[in-house]
Amino acid sequence: MTEKNKNETERPRRSWGFLLYLPAVAKGLYNTLLHILKLKGHKTFTVQYPEKRPEVRPGFRGEHRLKIDELGREKCVACLMCQTVCPSNCIDIVAEEAPWEDRDKRPRIFQIDMLRCIYCGMCEEACPCDAIELTEKLYTVSTSRAEMIYDKEKLLSN
Ligand code: SF4
Ligand code: SF4
Repeated sequence: MTEKNKNETERPRRSWGFLLYLPAVAKGLYNTLLHILKLKGHKTFTVQYPEKRPEVRPGFRGEHRLKIDELGREKCVACLMCQTVCPSNCIDIVAEEAPWEDRDKRPRIFQIDMLRCIYCGMCEEACPCDAIELTEKLYTVSTSRAEMIYDKEKLLSN
């Protein structure tokens, strides 16, 4: 028998290694069956958002808030640090002269384009006056882009 004929008549060696996975596969199928039949207590993670808001973990970075001081004035002094540091370039501030003696400026316009924000928290980190923070409020649902540009009043009431 030539070498070629010998190779053709040789049967490929069967590998039985796949049998090692069978217990895990069977266990997975068994668990799936229990869930389908609702025989196994399990936590449901799906929520009917936005009607129902899911709970968030402490420290979650959600919508922004502009803080007010003990006299009810916005803490922001329009220093533009947050606008400068924002990697998404989504903060727009226009300053005006403050009517109070303890600061020079305050924001006349303070807008955040929430559709561009990546919720990194750098604005909060950069603020020297502790005037802006990211709350644990989940993102608002809207039907237009304009609704997602938050102005000063919206940010103060958040
Ligand atoms: S969270 Fe980040 S991306 Fe959003 S406004 Fe602040 S700095 Fe900009
Ligand atoms: S929120 Fe803070 S960092 Fe941003 S302009 Fe106001 S004072 Fe400056």
